[in-house]
Amino acid sequence: MNSQISNPSIESHEIDAVIERQKQYFRTGETRSVPFRREQLIKLREAVLRFEPQLLAALKEDLNKSEQEAYTTEIGIVLSEIRTALRYVRRWSKPERARTPMTHFGASSRIVPEPYGTTLIIGPWNYPVNLMLVPVVSAIAAGNTIVMKPSEMAPATSRALAALVRETFRPEYVTLIEGEASVSTELLKRPFDHIFFTGSPQVGRIVMEAAAKQLIPVTLELGGKSPCIVHKDARLSLAAKRVVYGKLTNAGQTCVAPDYLLVHREAKAALLKEIESVVETFYGQDPIRDPDYGRIVNERHYRRLLGYLADGRIAYGGQTDDASLKIAPTLLEDVSPNSKVMREEIFGPILPILEYESTEELLSIVRQNPKPLALYVFSENKQFQQDIIREVPFGGGCVNDTLMHLGTPYLPFGGVGTSGIGSYHGEHGFRTFSHYKSVLKQTSRFDFPFRYPKAKNGLNIIRKLLR
Ligand code: NAD
Repeated sequence: MNSQISNPSIESHEIDAVIERQKQYFRTGETRSVPFRREQLIKLREAVLRFEPQLLAALKEDLNKSEQEAYTTEIGIVLSEIRTALRYVRRWSKPERARTPMTHFGASSRIVPEPYGTTLIIGPWNYPVNLMLVPVVSAIAAGNTIVMKPSEMAPATSRALAALVRETFRPEYVTLIEGEASVSTELLKRPFDHIFFTGSPQVGRIVMEAAAKQLIPVTLELGGKSPCIVHKDARLSLAAKRVVYGKLTNAGQTCVAPDYLLVHREAKAALLKEIESVVETFYGQDPIRDPDYGRIVNERHYRRLLGYLADGRIAYGGQTDDASLKIAPTLLEDVSPNSKVMREEIFGPILPILEYESTEELLSIVRQNPKPLALYVFSENKQFQQDIIREVPFGGGCVNDTLMHLGTPYLPFGGVGTSGIGSYHGEHGFRTFSHYKSVLKQTSRFDFPFRYPKAKNGLNIIRKLLR
């Protein structure tokens, strides 16, 4: 295979060579020792701290992220994941004892976590540091070698990450390959031992299909339409603050952003007023001019979002600026459930508002779309909170908050159905990048004859033991 890929930085045979070297290096066993893993995590932490100015500048360039936002949602989360992995990796890596049934008398059982081997991590553009480096933390903690492919749509961040990886790790251990979708296509033909993909459900299907051809295990972190429910008994001013925070962080380009709002009829007018006032407190009267307000990643996505503005009545906002690719925070009312804005993942600062009277009405709206990545419910009523959590399948979410469930290393983060397969963060990330090997160790000091053919009374004994 010697074809030139539409990325000047790498050719097909070079990809083969990188993977072959990683496989050879993995076989040396060096990546398996816990002290080695800890050393690499420390190296990564030092590199992230050293590269912080470059990463912040790149995130500003690619997405106009403010320093506070970039630190809280990207760099800070990576550092917190490294800290958790450093604290627990020894414990996570220990074989677990398991019970052994009477039929296996004399034996002992263990479950031994082992790294998959050479892994591939493909990331999106919206949190390009977090979504590339957090899986890397898990993969290192689990003892793998890693090939990273960041998104070409955040080019400055892709370059900064490439420099960070080059300066920190040997390529046979961790390599970053920059490039467009065609580079992923090439990578997906290679014999990786695990693939970790974050991106859209459409590309998720392509990744899973490619992986299926070689039976490579995959983790898919995808997206969807995450509902945000505000019940009539919610603390409205607090709910407004947290909804606006969740929706406008990164200008709505967040996989777990509240996609649309479902508000109880009685609370609607008051909530909308509160939301408008919070937007003005956060980003002023003219958010488009606010230097800390994010921009849309590129012209194509900007145009796609402008299309949604016609799917309802603009109740607030609606200003746009072609030059800076910014769209003001916009509330959209009177949207039809069949319109595009209610069928596609919005991924921008446009919030459709739907109202409900009964829980059944609310559930029927939520069920029109596939299982979402996140769900948020604001209510002071425990029963209502529980009903929603029980009735709606979703990846993860919050009661009386937005986004925060993914900022903790103690909760698994992932989707369900079309919003994803598998999860990570903290120990869940370690488990995602590990195979759990079952080992039964039998004694050789004695040997019960009952399982062997023609053993006297054998079947009777087996019947008794298994009953
Ligand atoms: P995307 O699927 O377009 O691209 C993701 C990655 O896949 C990029 O590196 C890209 O180069 C590569 N790619 C694109 N087309 C490909 C193809 N045909 N074959 C192989 N690789 C290909 O996603 P995006 O636009 O970067 O990100 C937005 C999507 O990601 C949204 O749906 C969002 O919800 C989802 N997302 C999910 C999470 C999560 O953690 N679950 C986080 C962020 C974003």
